[in-house]
Amino acid sequence: MRKKIVAGNWKMNLEYSEGISLFSEIVNMVKDEKKGDQLAIICAPYIHLHSLAKLGGNAISIGAQNCHQKESGAYTGEISAKMIKSVGCEYVIIGHSERRQYFAESDELLAEKTVIALANGLTPLFCIGETLDERNNGSYFDVLKSQLVNGVFGLSNADFSKVVIAYEPVWAIGTGLTASSAQAQEVHAFIRKEIAAKYDTAIAEETSILYGGSCNPKNAAELFAQEDIDGGLIGGASLKSRDFLDIIKAFNS
Ligand code: PEP
Repeated sequence: MRKKIVAGNWKMNLEYSEGISLFSEIVNMVKDEKKGDQLAIICAPYIHLHSLAKLGGNAISIGAQNCHQKESGAYTGEISAKMIKSVGCEYVIIGHSERRQYFAESDELLAEKTVIALANGLTPLFCIGETLDERNNGSYFDVLKSQLVNGVFGLSNADFSKVVIAYEPVWAIGTGLTASSAQAQEVHAFIRKEIAAKYDTAIAEETSILYGGSCNPKNAAELFAQEDIDGGLIGGASLKSRDFLDIIKAFNS
């Protein structure tokens, strides 16, 4: 059975001490609520990762928000997948729309990052999503397919089986606009169908596909109740312990 996942993306927020105290609150709340087959992840800024991985225990897994595409070397200011793994992280977000937009990350670059993440034992949370124009002009299925084909469909069956996909419509990220549960389900079913066509039905059925974009305690239960939505990638609401917990509890409602 595919995993149910709620992953928080703190983005570039929280000083070190703020991160530790928010995380400690979340760990305390989550350990009583999370069910056996559910996974809670916090993707934090690099400077938090080592401490959070120690504090998270079995309650919360830790992820980074990016990694460099090379193994190591003269890339001043960058952080490698191996370094991320070495501090106890298990996950890394790859291809978030903010990285695509502000750092001009192409599908080809993201494919390299995915390969290096997997080679170092990290699970990529690979993000895809269309802009508002692409939604309105009806090209969104083509856009999403091309992000999949160029970003992750070069992976072997074994490697692809380790990847989590996050559908994050760009127009819904940080805007307060959420895809309706029907809009999100339509896309998630499409993604699963494309995975089945490229790999096979068993792999498609086992792939967790998360929804992201202004997901909050009010809309999470309806989104997560959809057949092909296996959880959420949560930005703003992951910065409030109560909201993050309530989103986790949305699986049980
Ligand atoms: C995100 O950054 O991945 C995200 C989904 O943000 P928000 O929940 O704030 O829209």
